[in-house]
Amino acid sequence: MTAVAGLGGVAEAVFANTTLPSAWDLSTEIVVAGSGPAGMGAAVTAIDNNAKVLIFEKGKNYGGCGVISAGILKLEGGTRSQKAAGIQDSVEQYYKRLTNPNEDLSRAERMGNQELLAKKVEHTAAFEDWAINHGVKFRPGLTTAGVDSQHPGMWHHVWWKDGGEGRNMIPPNKDGYVTCAGLMLPLKEYFESKGGRIYLEHKVTSVIKDANGRVIGVEVLSPNGKILKVLATKGVVLAGGGFRGNVPMRMLFDARMTKNMIATGEPFVFQDGSAIKVGVKAGGFMVRDGNRPHSNFRRKFGTIHYNFPLNSPYGAPGLDVAGNRWNQIIFTNKNGDRFVQEVDKWDLGTGYNFYDLALAQPDQLIWTIFDDATAKKYRWSTKPPVCEEGLAFDANTLDELGKLTNQPNLAQTVERYNNFVDTKADSDFGRPAATMTKKIEKAPFHAVRCVLAVHNISAGLAINGDGQVIDIDLQPIPGLYAAGESAGGIGGGVTGSMIVGQIAAEHLTNN
Ligand SMILES: Cc1cc2nc3c(=O)[nH]c(=O)nc-3n(C[C@H](O)[C@H](O)[C@H](O)COP(=O)(O)OP(=O)(O)OC[C@H]3O[C@@H](n4cnc5c(N)ncnc54)[C@H](O)[C@@H]3O)c2cc1C
Repeated sequence: MTAVAGLGGVAEAVFANTTLPSAWDLSTEIVVAGSGPAGMGAAVTAIDNNAKVLIFEKGKNYGGCGVISAGILKLEGGTRSQKAAGIQDSVEQYYKRLTNPNEDLSRAERMGNQELLAKKVEHTAAFEDWAINHGVKFRPGLTTAGVDSQHPGMWHHVWWKDGGEGRNMIPPNKDGYVTCAGLMLPLKEYFESKGGRIYLEHKVTSVIKDANGRVIGVEVLSPNGKILKVLATKGVVLAGGGFRGNVPMRMLFDARMTKNMIATGEPFVFQDGSAIKVGVKAGGFMVRDGNRPHSNFRRKFGTIHYNFPLNSPYGAPGLDVAGNRWNQIIFTNKNGDRFVQEVDKWDLGTGYNFYDLALAQPDQLIWTIFDDATAKKYRWSTKPPVCEEGLAFDANTLDELGKLTNQPNLAQTVERYNNFVDTKADSDFGRPAATMTKKIEKAPFHAVRCVLAVHNISAGLAINGDGQVIDIDLQPIPGLYAAGESAGGIGGGVTGSMIVGQIAAEHLTNN
């Protein structure tokens, strides 16, 4: 880091006829906005290519959603772990699977930015080795596709020695945890060991351009309220994640994403869309992802916080209500009426999925109803620290539970459902007989809120195949790049975000 007065060290000609800061507070070659996977992919690649890099992170915490995410990474194309598991794959086969509907109709990458996709495929196949070379460890073994309705791909498992207080992790076994902290923390250590610096609680609010329209710096809001002017002689990477925490902005893309929904990652990370706004103000525009044009939702039970572990300072974990456990519950809406067949499959065979139906209910308020036999069977506690206050209720009768949760029709709904279990025929929603294994009959009865969450909006700044932000004439804005969930057109996820960050930094440092 060098504090510079005036324009020392920068070609004067670049600044001809332009209104530039009379003094720069900080100077570097590359500024990265955001310390999540996209930002770290860009920052580490840039520093490996001998660039000087500063990261500005608006939050109190390092690592964005990446450091609290589950550490199951979708990698294909002939990775080290695939080879170890005896899975034959290659860059060519992987690319074909993504782009040829005859290979796999569910992979819609053929609709995304194709130049970027080709680079992404190569980087994905090389990612595990890249990560290992930067101090990351993987646990042996892969999760194959279809483990549940939320994870259709093949997943590699990142290892880390401890779970940490706020991290989403797969529980320990004798050799540690599966958490993405195992990716993000070694990368931070590597980056800082090479002289990189991360400023927490520093928010990038706009870019500074020279007279030729080239981005040569940023304005940064510092914790004491001062706006810092930061020179970035090579360019700026916007890696501030998406905008799922910004209710009006997210509703532009899907009007169902009202304030009733939570945003995953909060309160550890607040995805306010500010980095995207910086890009739009600089002349960029937003596009949806070609490969995933719909928004991506999640659900939690008894908590308004997504996937934090027990006793986390960021929220309660709630109940694990997934897969075959749905055989023992029903969902009701605000009125106490059922609205869906309770089958934990992505495709309900009706043209709609669970979220389509849940989001159409009054106030998008959903309850999960079960009896005490089920609660005991799965060791579901409706009390803190497992569930949060006001999101889980118990009562000795269904009438009482209905009153407690303001569901006027609850008792009669359960009675009707119990009759369906007897006759093995759900004449309301066609729930398959095999999934109606249990009546809801043993007191006390329980009602736990099923809270709907926005997980990914699949839209962001339009970028080209090098990660450059493009303007409305589809021309790159010189010096400005976007990656991860701040970028549109190609999708996010931990590795997807990090890899576009790598691609942007390669272009930035090679040009
Ligand atoms: C709980 C959870 C579990 C997940 N599990 C997985 C998983 O197992 N596998 C997987 O592939 N994906 C997973 N994901 C998704 C994955 O974490 C995201 O797709 C990924 O983190 C996106 O990376 P990003 O860098 O684009 O954004 P983020 O991770 O959101 O990071 C962006 C960072 O930029 C900061 N920022 C924003 N605006 C500014 C600004 N103006 N100036 C400075 N800083 C700014 C933010 O505070 C944030 O720290 C999970 C997500 C969550 C929330």
